[in-house]
Amino acid sequence: MTANREIDSILQRAADGGRITPEEALLLYTDAPFHALGEAADTIRRRRFPDGVVTYLIDRNINYTNVCVTACKFCAFFRAPKHKDGWAHPMEEILRRCGEAIDLGATQVMLQGGHHPEFGVAYYESLFAGVKEAYPQLMIHSIGPSEILHMAKVDGVSIEEAILRIKAAGLDSIAGAGAEMLPQRPRKAIAPLKESGERWIEVMTIAHRNGLSSTATMMMGTGETHAERIEHIRMIRDCQDLAVANGYQDSAVETSHQVGGFRAFIPWTYQPENNHLKGRTQATTMEYLRFIAVSRLFFDNIAHLQASWLTTGKDVGQLALHLGVDDLGSIMLEENVISSAGARHRSNLHELIWMIRTADRIPAWRDTLYNHLQVHRTEADDPTDDRVVSHFSSIAMPGRKTLPLVDAK
Ligand code: SF4
Repeated sequence: MTANREIDSILQRAADGGRITPEEALLLYTDAPFHALGEAADTIRRRRFPDGVVTYLIDRNINYTNVCVTACKFCAFFRAPKHKDGWAHPMEEILRRCGEAIDLGATQVMLQGGHHPEFGVAYYESLFAGVKEAYPQLMIHSIGPSEILHMAKVDGVSIEEAILRIKAAGLDSIAGAGAEMLPQRPRKAIAPLKESGERWIEVMTIAHRNGLSSTATMMMGTGETHAERIEHIRMIRDCQDLAVANGYQDSAVETSHQVGGFRAFIPWTYQPENNHLKGRTQATTMEYLRFIAVSRLFFDNIAHLQASWLTTGKDVGQLALHLGVDDLGSIMLEENVISSAGARHRSNLHELIWMIRTADRIPAWRDTLYNHLQVHRTEADDPTDDRVVSHFSSIAMPGRKTLPLVDAK
C-alpha cells in the first residue's frame, strides 16, 4: 500500500492484469513509490512466467556496412557516403562471422548496418538468402523498419513488396531497431532525416500482417520528456492491439505464449560518446528502472520484457529482474554500434547465468522466438564453454580480442 489511493488502485488493477491508460502510466512513472511499482510489475512477471524462468540468448551482431545517409545525431557508428572510413563487408566475411558464431553456440544473427545509398531490396535478399543457404539453422533477426523504408525507397517499391521479398529470402524476425523515440518532437531532435515514428509503426503493422513478428525497442535519455516516453509505448501498444484484433500471427511463434506481432519490448539507454549529442542529456538509473516497471504494467499485450545490461550495466540488469523483466537478452559475441558510442559493459555465458540464478530465477537458454533450448535448473545443467564471451570480436575496441571478466563460475 502507498500513501496515495489513486496510485494504489492503478497498481492493483495493473497487477491483476487490467489495462492502464497512458495518463495512469505517466502518474505511476512520476509518482508511484519505487517498491510498490516494482512489486506490481513483478506480480505480472510471476503470473506470466510462473516457472520463474529468465531467458538469455547467444547471438552475434554482424554489421554489413557503416555507410549511412541518415546521420542520426546519437549515432557513433555511421560514416557518410564517400567518407574514407566507410566500409561494406563482402558476403564471404559475413559468412565467416556467422560460422564463428555458430561454433560458439549462436542461434541467431542480427545483421545491422547503415542506410547505404545503393542497398535496395535485392541487396538484402542476397544477404539473407546467402546466410540461410550456408547456415539454415541460424535465425535471422535483423534490420528495422527504417532499413525497410530505405530499401523500398532505393528501389521504388512498396513497403509490402520489400517485406515479402526479404521474408521469402530468409528474414525470420524484424529487430525493433530504429524506434529510438517515436513521438515526433524528440525524434526530429535526434534523427531529423529518419522517417517518422508513424512510419515505423506502419512498417511493423505491414510486417505483422504478413506473418513476420518482431521486437520493439526504445532508446531513452536524449532529452525526451516523461510524457514522450509514455507516448512511445502507447504507440507500440496500439500497434500490438491492432495485430491482436486482426489475428496477425507469426506461424513460427508459439501462440499459447504470445499473440500479435511484437514478442518483446526492450528499452535501453542512450550512450554519450563520439556522437553529435555529446551526452548533454542521459537517462538516470532510476529513470530506467522505473520505466522498466511501468512498461511491464503498461504492456498487457506483449509477452516479454528485456533488460539492457549492455547499456545500463550488469548490476542494473540484474536489478531489473525484480521489476518485471523475464529476459536478459543476448551474450553479444560481437556488438559495434552501441559500443562505439561508449557502452563498456561486457559479460560471458557463465556470468549471465550467474546473474539470473543469484536473482533467484531459473536461467534458460532460448532462441529468437523465446523457445527454451536448455533450462539450467541446477549448476549441473550449466554449459561449460568458456569461449562464449561478449564482444570477443569488436571494432569498438581495437586490438582487444578478449576482455577481463568476472569469474562467475
Ligand atoms: S542509427 Fe542507423 S540510420 Fe541512424 S545514422 Fe546510425 S546507422 Fe544510420
